[in-house]
Amino acid sequence: MSDTKTVVALVGNPNCGKTTLFNELTGSNYDVGNRIGVTVESKKGICRYNKNMLIVDLPGIYSLSPYTLEEVVSRDYLLKEKPDVIIDLVDATNIERNLYLATQLLEIGIPVVIALNMVDLLKKNNIHINVKGLSSALGCPIVETSALKGTGLKEVVDEAIKCANQHRVSSKQMEFPKAVEKAVNEIESLV
Ligand code: GDP
Repeated sequence: MSDTKTVVALVGNPNCGKTTLFNELTGSNYDVGNRIGVTVESKKGICRYNKNMLIVDLPGIYSLSPYTLEEVVSRDYLLKEKPDVIIDLVDATNIERNLYLATQLLEIGIPVVIALNMVDLLKKNNIHINVKGLSSALGCPIVETSALKGTGLKEVVDEAIKCANQHRVSSKQMEFPKAVEKAVNEIESLV
């Protein structure tokens, strides 16, 4: 089924609103809320805004390091199955922590669209985000969404299709301090 469809992976930190977004995009009815002891698995569903889009909801993770079962499942899926595009949900109220994962996702060669979620809470928390500046710094499109209120969802789907069709990966290379770059190059030549 997936070979003729655009496969979109939903990735994000725990509690960023992934289940809510998945349910909104697919019309599913999974429980919102974390339950301890539930087997780690990904959910799949057809997008209600675009029937040619298969949405895969991966377990919530903080990074791509393979230390937890969730990280292993999500990382293996991204690296082995290579979805056409990633929608990375970033909790706008916790942006610094969430962007750590985003910077890793931008480096794996799969097009990424950031869904800046929970924007409905920004005003309440007196937070202003320079979305245009951030998008340009990261080299990827950012769509403001509220999975809870259902805003920006069609826009994020449209952007994801565009990025997948054009295989538009981030143009920006993350730059580290010289000493780190040197060490990375040395390690790279060994592995
Ligand atoms: P997950 O752990 O990433 O799957 O996150 P959930 O979908 O379970 O959402 C965590 C909590 O955030 C729930 O209480 C949701 O109702 C809430 N939530 C999700 N998206 C939004 C949003 O855009 N705005 C607000 N205010 N709350 C949201």
